Amino acid sequence: MQEISMVDLHGQYLKIKTEVNEAIQGVIDSSAFIKGTDVMAFQDELSEYMNVPHAVACGNGTDALQVAMMALGLQAGDEVITTPFTFISTIEVIKLLGLKPVLVDVLDDTFNLDPGLLEGAVTNRTKAVVPVHLFGQCADMDRIMDFARTNGLYVIEDNAQAIGADYKSADGSIRKAGCIGHIGTTSFFPSKNLGAFGDGGALFTGDDNFGTKLRSLVNHGMSSERYYYDQVGVNSRLDTLQAAILRIKLRHLDEYHRARQKAANFYDEALSGIEEIQIPVRSAFSSHIFHQYTLQLAPEKRDELKQYLNEKRIPSMVYYPVPLHLQRAYKDLGYQEGDLPVSELLSGKVLSLPMHTELEEEQLVYICQQITAFFRG
Ligand SMILES: *Cc1c(COP(=O)(O)O)cnc(C)c1O
Repeated sequence: MQEISMVDLHGQYLKIKTEVNEAIQGVIDSSAFIKGTDVMAFQDELSEYMNVPHAVACGNGTDALQVAMMALGLQAGDEVITTPFTFISTIEVIKLLGLKPVLVDVLDDTFNLDPGLLEGAVTNRTKAVVPVHLFGQCADMDRIMDFARTNGLYVIEDNAQAIGADYKSADGSIRKAGCIGHIGTTSFFPSKNLGAFGDGGALFTGDDNFGTKLRSLVNHGMSSERYYYDQVGVNSRLDTLQAAILRIKLRHLDEYHRARQKAANFYDEALSGIEEIQIPVRSAFSSHIFHQYTLQLAPEKRDELKQYLNEKRIPSMVYYPVPLHLQRAYKDLGYQEGDLPVSELLSGKVLSLPMHTELEEEQLVYICQQITAFFRG
């Protein structure tokens, strides 16, 4: 049996090696490393895949969040509501822009923002809500959008972990995650479901005005006339090599999702009978593309299981060990332990299992046997 890894980027590459190598060579031959034709082509193909009028490529998923907030004209002192149970990027750019992060807790089954808590967090300074579609499935966008409409707020979807997931509204309409709010963002960090061979990111919007703004902001705020600047921007572009690689990988994205879903179904079936663990809960309104396959179990058992699996050469990870409000860098926000109890509890209970497109049945069988053995002896 092959060594088991959390993610297997090399195995995935080997299956598309010829195509990818040719594309890379093509970019080198053209030597249009920035703003080459692959960048425009990738944006077009991505906007078609996402079924959204504007897809704007940028340097990474963190910049995408920052640029989204800049495009919405958020001003220092404005409040932005988001979740503490996520990667650091969201709160980081809120702080960097001089905005105030206001954190609301998540649901203990899906790990996504609890829309019932928005009412208690909104003030007259609140300007935006940033739901994160964590681990591969959507937050409750119907309720979040309703709340935002009622309160005149913008919604930025952090879709770094759920690119390609489908959200089904109560009215029956189906849209891609990241294309429901005013602006959606994503990341092409190598281990994301659509990963580049380096950093990359993108923004999505259905609004023509925001689309124009985003395109300008990622390119120093330049207007349509070269070397004339209408607004303060940033330098955050997707380079041509990454775009050329992503064009190829985008064609395989649905197949990658199916491979992850197959592994998740296998885990579900093999582990659902173990009462000490809770397998991932799937929301009725969203497909799940399993960026992570995350179990919940009692904190003491979690650490023991992690150690046990490690001895059996099975990697596992804790996403995320410390909720953002308890991170030292964000102490000045004034949160205390106990303020966001669900996220704090989850940090002790979660354990993500190996999840990628190249998992073999033999490996899945072995992982599940070992987990079963841990509980049943
Ligand atoms: C990966 C990630 C980001 C940041 O993306 P980068 O491309 O690494 O900057 C932001 N939000 C979430 C939820 C992520 O998982």
